[in-house]
Amino acid sequence: LFITIEGPDGAGKTSVLNELYPRLQLTAKRSIVKTREPGGIPIAEKIRHVILDPSNDRMDDRTEALLYAAARRQHLIEKVWPALDEDKIVLCDRFVDSSLAYQGAGRGIGMEEVAKINEFAIEGTMPDVTLYLDVDSDTGLQRIMKNRTNQIDRLDSEGLQFHQRVRHAYLKLADANPDRIIKIDARKRLDEVVNDCFYELLTRYPD
Ligand code: C5P
Ligand code: MG
Repeated sequence: LFITIEGPDGAGKTSVLNELYPRLQLTAKRSIVKTREPGGIPIAEKIRHVILDPSNDRMDDRTEALLYAAARRQHLIEKVWPALDEDKIVLCDRFVDSSLAYQGAGRGIGMEEVAKINEFAIEGTMPDVTLYLDVDSDTGLQRIMKNRTNQIDRLDSEGLQFHQRVRHAYLKLADANPDRIIKIDARKRLDEVVNDCFYELLTRYPD
């Protein structure tokens, strides 16, 4: 079972996962692998470091998209595919929807173009279910300003409009894939969001 969690910056993916994971471990009969993108394994964490290094501010948008796809593929090969083969539950912070939203819509490459290079990387692997944490861009950015001063430079350069394009793309993806993507209202308090995610998963996968 391949579960991904998605959302714009400040939606609270990481905090939600940190609480959701132990709760799922208590109830699920299968073992759960918690991981993240870009990263999750050494090669992909190194690629993450290259992409997110602020001194690489001249990186071309398509280069960035290719690096995300490369990190994604290696992560699938070393971690996700083996775990799924062993019938484990994989709980992943971000996956291909992030690239469609950030590089496709945010950077303006186009979601179809980004989908193409990702198809090359993922060879058809898609999540069984995606928890999409929806938050308006103002709230999302406010949360980040409060909690992550180290990210403010990046955010200044990307701006509110970038984040609005990202959110709009996520909403479009959720509308187009209602069977896979569950939209969760992430403006609520953390414990409520965690509850909502937990019960959505429990309803779909009671065991
Ligand atoms: O998920 P996390 O918050 O750790 O992501 C780190 C950074 O990478 C974020 O600032 C996010 O905006 C950015 N990102 C991106 N494109 C992706 C995935 C993440 O720009 N496809
Ligand atoms: Mg995060």
